[in-house]
Amino acid sequence: MPTLDSLEELLHDEMRDIYDAEKQLTKALPKLAKKAGASELKSAFEDHLRQTERHVERLEEAFEQLGLPVRGKKCEGMQHLIAEGDDMIGEAEDNATRDAVMIAAAQKVEHYEIATYGTLRTWANLLGKTDVAALFEETLEEEKETDQNLTSIAESFVNEAAAEEGAGETEEGARKRGRAVSVRHPRATAAEKRNNGRSRARR
Ligand code: FE
Repeated sequence: MPTLDSLEELLHDEMRDIYDAEKQLTKALPKLAKKAGASELKSAFEDHLRQTERHVERLEEAFEQLGLPVRGKKCEGMQHLIAEGDDMIGEAEDNATRDAVMIAAAQKVEHYEIATYGTLRTWANLLGKTDVAALFEETLEEEKETDQNLTSIAESFVNEAAAEEGAGETEEGARKRGRAVSVRHPRATAAEKRNNGRSRARR
């Protein structure tokens, strides 16, 4: 069990980490917005950029409330998440696939932030810093909303692709779309494979 002294240190350290992470995101999000194919996704990235700027400000407020200097510490976790996302985006061959990859990369980032802000809120509460905990809670809720919004966008693409497929399209279009959908929903593809296996076994 960490002592309260060390928990306080952990809180400060984690705040510096996420402060740097949020700053990295204020640079990455405009690039994602620029590359997004679907207008819905573009505005989601633009909206989240404005939110991220507020997350930075809230952290600065938290540092001040705790009487700490406003200082970041290189967040390697975020650096690698962004770099991995960039690599995958670079490999995408068409707009739909690129959008799917960007959603996946952005959701990994959101989950990293959700984990961090949940931890920060808990630690701040344990230390009796309830005002600071409330700031973290506010950001936590916004990160969760962004994550859910990205899921909705991903699902709306799949529905759209399915509807278009039903209406009939070129073989080339279906091939590309099929690849994009499988990137978005790898688990659905795995389930399909299992079902195919079962129907073969029954024969
Ligand atoms: Fe954030």
